[in-house]
Amino acid sequence: MRVVGTFAGARSLRAGITGLVPTMGYLHEGHLSLVGIARERSDTVMASLFVNPLQFDDPSDLDRYPRDFDRDAALLELAGCDVLFAPPAAEVYPAPPLARVVVSGLTDTMEGPRRPGHFDGVVTVVAKLLGGLQPDLAVFGRKDAQQLVVVARLAADLSMPVEVIGGPTIREADGLALSSRNVFLSGEERRAALGISRGLMAAADAAEAGERSGAALEGLVIEEMSRQALDIEYAELADAADTARLLVLDRPAFLAVAAGSGRTRLIDNVWLKPDGTADRGARLGRPSVLYGGGD
Ligand code: AMP
Repeated sequence: MRVVGTFAGARSLRAGITGLVPTMGYLHEGHLSLVGIARERSDTVMASLFVNPLQFDDPSDLDRYPRDFDRDAALLELAGCDVLFAPPAAEVYPAPPLARVVVSGLTDTMEGPRRPGHFDGVVTVVAKLLGGLQPDLAVFGRKDAQQLVVVARLAADLSMPVEVIGGPTIREADGLALSSRNVFLSGEERRAALGISRGLMAAADAAEAGERSGAALEGLVIEEMSRQALDIEYAELADAADTARLLVLDRPAFLAVAAGSGRTRLIDNVWLKPDGTADRGARLGRPSVLYGGGD
């Protein structure tokens, strides 16, 4: 695996179909599964590792975001990554960017209003990565459901010659969605956080059993989360095409949640089809490498 710090250097290492997996590091099996998807579909697999200051609405969140470059590089190499693009901030932002990219509408719901400026930062850095690295495909996690819909729309609206692919949410054996932020959870906070995935699974069960009411599905998640010490921000059934709130599950959708456990803000979701079938993601059979394990 080659490690490069410049757009031009990374671009010059593309050979054949190139797949990109953008990350902010502190990797876990969720990120690595996206590398696996890119590996299946590409001749050259590239991952980027950049903690993008532009997308942090809270400066203390940026300061405490976990980082471990050597571990990330080792995990990526094991997962079959060919090129690791790990730029210094000066490569990505040689000057404060005056040209920024905004996806309107889709960012007016859920995460958008709760994290002002967040999506503008995400969309701008993704536009820079897609423009600067010119991959043929880019893989994003369905864990960040709204982000995936927004990025796909960015690429379509700006006629970017890239295919945006979504990968399933990888979960711990007990259901907790993997997140770099999980390392901040105390034992008690982690137990409370399990209310999120339990609620989503209960809603997925209900959808599979025929429930189509958005309010009923959202209510099941809220009910389960309310049993725990969680700061519930929202549970919304959203149209997968435009992220607008859905009253009835009559088209492809995702049921998305944000909640705080202690000081840690977590998001999770399940994707639902109008026939009630649910994409709940996949569970690991053993604890995540996040906790210092690994192979
Ligand atoms: P991040 O490093 O958190 O910015 O995430 C980088 C990419 O990994 C994004 O496309 C995320 O959606 C994806 N991702 C994060 N957590 C998971 C997970 N548990 N399962 C699958 N993909 C994930």
